[in-house]
Amino acid sequence: MEIMEGMGGAIRQNIERVRERIERAARRAGRNPDEVKIIAVTKGVEPAGIIEAIDAGIFDLGENRVQEMLGKQAALKDMVNRPVNWHMIGHLQNNKVKYLAGSVSMIHSLDSMKLAREIDKKAEMAGKVMDVLVQVNVAEEETKFGLKKHEVLDFIKEISTCRNMKVRGLMAIAPYVENPEDARLVFRELRKLFIDIGRKNIDNIDMDYLSMGMSKDFEVAVEEGANIVRIGTAIFGKRQVTHCLERGDGTP
Ligand SMILES: *Cc1c(COP(=O)(O)O)cnc(C)c1O
Repeated sequence: MEIMEGMGGAIRQNIERVRERIERAARRAGRNPDEVKIIAVTKGVEPAGIIEAIDAGIFDLGENRVQEMLGKQAALKDMVNRPVNWHMIGHLQNNKVKYLAGSVSMIHSLDSMKLAREIDKKAEMAGKVMDVLVQVNVAEEETKFGLKKHEVLDFIKEISTCRNMKVRGLMAIAPYVENPEDARLVFRELRKLFIDIGRKNIDNIDMDYLSMGMSKDFEVAVEEGANIVRIGTAIFGKRQVTHCLERGDGTP
């Protein structure tokens, strides 16, 4: 596949196609398609392509690198005339957290106590409450970040005392598989954990968002209950991502 930026409406068409596929997947599962939020993952995408996505009705953008995101936010600042939400979806180092309090609406990649404390501290300094998702390494892959399933509940209980951070749900990256059907059990397990934790009514913890599903597997994720899908390639085409991707971005 070619880079699709500047090909006159290709991004808009891709978004329409993704929306239709989400709609059909949701209906198959008896769900309301409006419950599913699309995050357009803009790593490696030029500002013109991002603007095309925004013009096509995208409200949420995802980046997995802090520096790249800040650069794009600056470049787009005077070019976009309505608010968009940025999501940090990649593995996060403590020393980058200070840039996020004012620039993202949610961090999807909370995966350690150290990071939780840092997010809480920097959010307090900024006078904000930062929404976060806890990243779960459902299949316990060596190559991926995230907590193991059996660690999640205790972790969440412990961070529930962080007053400047609010857990809003869970995030996972499914193992890379040729056939998206093979990711179904992973999505199902994450949903089960999401429901179980939600039922415990832990103070300061809300299980609102289940962020799972990428270009290759988002329909299965939606069938299994995702209400956030993070989609790059199916919207923007294959990009030349020159920097080293995070461990576990789902690509082989
Ligand atoms: C790149 C990335 C995505 C999007 O991947 P595609 O396969 O291009 O849709 C989603 N989530 C994370 C964490 C990513 O790094």
